[in-house]
Amino acid sequence: MKFNTKLIHAGISQDKATGAVNVPIYQTSTYKQQELGGTPQYEYSRTGNPTREAVEKLIRDLENGTAGFAFASGSAAIHTIFTLFSAGDHIIVGNDVYGGTFRLINSVLKRLGLQFTTVDTRNLAAVKDAIKGNTKAIYLETPTNPLMQISDIAALAEIGHQNKLLTIVDNTFATPYIQRPLDLGADIVVHSASKYLGGHSDLVAGLAVVKDKELGQKIGYLQNAIGGILGPQDSWLLQRGIKTLAVRMKAHEQNTQAIFDFLHANDKIGKIYYPGDSEAPDYKIVKKQMNGFGGMISFELKKGLSVKKFIESLKLITLAESLGSVESLVEVPAIMTHGSIPEKIRLENGISNELVRLSVGIEEVSDLLADLKNALEKA
Ligand SMILES: *Cc1c(COP(=O)(O)O)cnc(C)c1O
Repeated sequence: MKFNTKLIHAGISQDKATGAVNVPIYQTSTYKQQELGGTPQYEYSRTGNPTREAVEKLIRDLENGTAGFAFASGSAAIHTIFTLFSAGDHIIVGNDVYGGTFRLINSVLKRLGLQFTTVDTRNLAAVKDAIKGNTKAIYLETPTNPLMQISDIAALAEIGHQNKLLTIVDNTFATPYIQRPLDLGADIVVHSASKYLGGHSDLVAGLAVVKDKELGQKIGYLQNAIGGILGPQDSWLLQRGIKTLAVRMKAHEQNTQAIFDFLHANDKIGKIYYPGDSEAPDYKIVKKQMNGFGGMISFELKKGLSVKKFIESLKLITLAESLGSVESLVEVPAIMTHGSIPEKIRLENGISNELVRLSVGIEEVSDLLADLKNALEKA
């Protein structure tokens, strides 16, 4: 099956019992057991639920893994994956990860005894230098949020394997439509499915996929033990969203390319961060590992312009956190998504106060361009 067909038919796409072309919502916590001491397929919905299983098998197939897991949020998925490690273990983490991941690491996991070194994972030598005797994993995002930095997944996974480290990739921005980290050698993929996979800003969910069966069993154990599972209603909604991923991503990409061209030619715009920028230093790796450029673009307004006026003059593009949905959203990372990162670290990492992040939706592109043009004139 080709990828676009898998979106519709992979995993469990129908109901065997009734022939319903959609998986039913099994709104149940428990299941009748036929005998005492048997081994029923389902016994309790934290451990297993057929609706959740459908979306777990779907993401497993889309990422070409051996097992998929659905969680109550991307953060719950990431937290559960980090519980593979024990106090005293060391993990190398990308220096431009999602703000919530930064917070989880620094305010929660460090307190529990995990050790972290943040590294620019584009720099392979720096990653190698950061490896210590107790290093267990490399954790990264590519493209990163909000600077769209690109790391070479295959090269990092090779360093990982040579040093017996797990390579864990947050694939939220690219989605398996554009990039499949397990195929490139990574061991675990995590997603905030609240973004492109859900696709409609109506859901908070997380997913994880693994390549190795034994590792899959460990994560299944942790998912059940910790209990941060996705409920049946949201599992159903997520599977419904995923069915249209290909058509949505195509539309996101077309619009984003047009907006890049517009911003590139506008003298009020400073730096632009976009994986499809052929002049960017990472572009060679983009072409090697990504099958497209996605729908995210960040840019700086030139000094002297008002970010506040620009944002508040937008009429169609909505000021909101989150991304990856059918409607266009705009945000200012320094104040919103990355506000929990201390200013000094944030500026060092290149997230300036003038940086604007745009999640380009699938509206008619001329309406989006007119909205941007008008707001830039007001800035
Ligand atoms: C949103 C996001 C997360 C966190 O996911 P939630 O579903 O909001 O908990 C993790 N990583 C990235 C890249 C994200 O954009």
